[in-house]
Amino acid sequence: MSRLDSFIRRMEAQRACLDAAVPALANVPGPVLELGLGNGRTYDHLREIMPDRRIFVFERKVAAHPDCIPPNEDLFTGDFRDTLPGAMSRIGAKAALVHADYGAGTPDYVTGMSDFLAETLTDMVAPGGWVVSDYPIEGNGWQALPLPDGIRPNRYFIRQA
Ligand code: SAM
Repeated sequence: MSRLDSFIRRMEAQRACLDAAVPALANVPGPVLELGLGNGRTYDHLREIMPDRRIFVFERKVAAHPDCIPPNEDLFTGDFRDTLPGAMSRIGAKAALVHADYGAGTPDYVTGMSDFLAETLTDMVAPGGWVVSDYPIEGNGWQALPLPDGIRPNRYFIRQA
């Protein structure tokens, strides 16, 4: 499979998982945490499909499309390892949904970040909330959920707290 095909399938999987979160989380209160703003495409999709939820964004260095830059009060700029611990004092409520798309680094980076996120996010996700990610994040007590119809295993990951 070409890298283009692989990228497209990953994006289709990402969108399908996030779209599936909307009805699944209808009764789970809380904001959305978007880890990795990138170009802002996913942030733009999230604010379209979840217009009533506040979306807090974490990004090392903002370089998104100008239309997709979150307001300052919803933005945490810096490395996840510096901004996530302590973020709850500003966010104020556990998240209904965390979306983490951070996997552009080396395998060691991805493994270390997945471990860090598993430990840190465990106390930041509401009971029943979802963590949707490009690499598996195994938070304490979370369970793996099946992917939406038509999405092959391991293309994306859904965990429920
Ligand atoms: N979903 C995004 C979009 O729609 O464009 C793409 C996200 S891109 C694959 C990954 C982003 O995560 C990059 O912007 C990168 O700077 C950010 N990132 C990766 N590791 C990070 C870290 N440790 N702390 C903060 N940001 C990080």
